Amino acid sequence: MSKPDCTRFIDKFYSFIDDELSAAECAEIQGHLDSCPECFERLKLESRFISFFKEKCRCEAAPTHLAGSIKAALEKSS
Ligand SMILES: [Zn+2]
Repeated sequence: MSKPDCTRFIDKFYSFIDDELSAAECAEIQGHLDSCPECFERLKLESRFISFFKEKCRCEAAPTHLAGSIKAALEKSS
């Protein structure tokens, strides 16, 4: 049940993966994931999402709790 926002977000996210993230883009991704469990669940299943975040979302806008909660969710579900 994707909202239009989510479709746009996912599209954008995948184009982000092959590119560098600015602090603003990083914050946008984080912000959407923080407020949207659907996208969070979807991206949780993407193993490259994890490495993506580790490599590219080291900007100061990235709250570490997101990476932490993804890691925790992955450990719980595996
Ligand atoms: Zn969403």
